[in-house]
Amino acid sequence: MSTTTSLRIAKFGGTSVADFDAMNRSADIVLADPAVRVVVLSASAGITNLLVALAEGVAQEQRDAHLAKIRHIQYAIIDRLSHPHVIREEIDRMLENVSRLSEAAALATSNALTDELVSHGELMSTLLFVEILRERHISAEWFDVRKIMRTNDRFGRAEPDCDTLGALTRSQLQPRLAESLIITQGFIGSEAKGRTTTLGRGGSDYTAALLGEALNVDRIDIWTDVPGIYTTDPRVVPTAHRIDQITFEEAAEMATFGAKVLHPATLLPAVRSDIPVFVGSSKDPSAGGTLVCNKTENPPLFRALALRRKQTLLTLHSLNMLHARGFLAEVFSILARHNISVDLITTSEVNVALTLDTTGSTSAGDGLLSSAMLTELSSLCRVEVEENLSLVALIGNQLSQACGVGKEVFGVLDPFNIRLICYGASSHNLCFLVPGNDAERVVQTLHHSLFE
Ligand code: ADP
Ligand code: ASP
Ligand code: MG
Repeated sequence: MSTTTSLRIAKFGGTSVADFDAMNRSADIVLADPAVRVVVLSASAGITNLLVALAEGVAQEQRDAHLAKIRHIQYAIIDRLSHPHVIREEIDRMLENVSRLSEAAALATSNALTDELVSHGELMSTLLFVEILRERHISAEWFDVRKIMRTNDRFGRAEPDCDTLGALTRSQLQPRLAESLIITQGFIGSEAKGRTTTLGRGGSDYTAALLGEALNVDRIDIWTDVPGIYTTDPRVVPTAHRIDQITFEEAAEMATFGAKVLHPATLLPAVRSDIPVFVGSSKDPSAGGTLVCNKTENPPLFRALALRRKQTLLTLHSLNMLHARGFLAEVFSILARHNISVDLITTSEVNVALTLDTTGSTSAGDGLLSSAMLTELSSLCRVEVEENLSLVALIGNQLSQACGVGKEVFGVLDPFNIRLICYGASSHNLCFLVPGNDAERVVQTLHHSLFE
């Protein structure tokens, strides 16, 4: 596809396909822009959480209750269709699969089984959306993204193979675009043997960006329940305001450090291929949104605050570290063997404190701290574990070059314990850890003094 004809991809999150009315509002948005030829959907709101719970292997009574809730959410959409019969049969088949897989999970759980189970959320929402479009006389085709979204077999947090995705997109998806609008699933993929995988919770944004890159689109539209990216989560600080334009670097820092509005990996393909990303609200498209692109005018020193909860801090004490070499190398190789990447880190002569990067947690939200890893670390040093901390990230520009940043930030936080600070590695962020219970007040206090 040449870049001269405008081509866009639009992704709608869970609340944007939560029910019949939400799906119709999302359909209106798609139809209002003829450049949108591919639509990526999440599962209807609430469904993935219920599927994850089923995948954990629950007793029959609870299983039936969860299944009933899933059926209720999807039937509420079917019941508003003019011709519900055929689609009801298809959804019933999906629900039977879900039921069968949940029984299997009750006997033995696995990450592969979890992915197979949770994929049904996106499979069902896309089927329903196609039906809604067809009833509106739009030629729309349901496309199983697993045919092209090739990943490795790290179930629950699979990594896409972009070369294969690119080739398969060109051969299997691109030729279809001229015929009809393509409706496909976010979040799910398949590994070489054909088994279903998932990209991690919130991964539909990432799917949209990956497909957008493979299709060489001129914009990726992310439709959600907020009209853009705000100076901080508007649920935490109601006075937060929208950022009309933001650079890839700033938005990527926000996503990495917990701004749930974008999955942390979303901007990788966008930056790589220089594709602008628009974020808007499907509830109120006329409210506009945020454009993420590679340059903005007058980037401010302080741009936004992000908050990531449930952080685990490991403090490692080694007496051997005094004048010793190789301690950090050993620590890192243990962590690498356990597939864990380090997030924040500070060191002293005999201590190293680090947090684990939770963006790698699986779709089932598994904890990252395994006892095998702790045992291995303990053979090297004394390990202290602190849970329930929150990471607050101040995102901005030229932060490490400016004077007075420390005073401006920490001056207003004197009532709070600051457990760890990371500053200077990136000129785009200043990160620190606070006790989980203080996190919201810290963000509110800081937002008030830096952004209001
Ligand atoms: P979707 O299901 O559409 O992917 P999400 O719930 O994953 O939606 O993301 C949208 C939510 O992200 C918003 O409701 C908001 O509470 C949260 N959020 C966190 N940080 C920000 C921010 N800086 N700007 C806007 N929304 C944010
Ligand atoms: N449905 C998946 C989730 O809830 C993926 C997504 O919504 O992006 O995590
Ligand atoms: Mg999301």
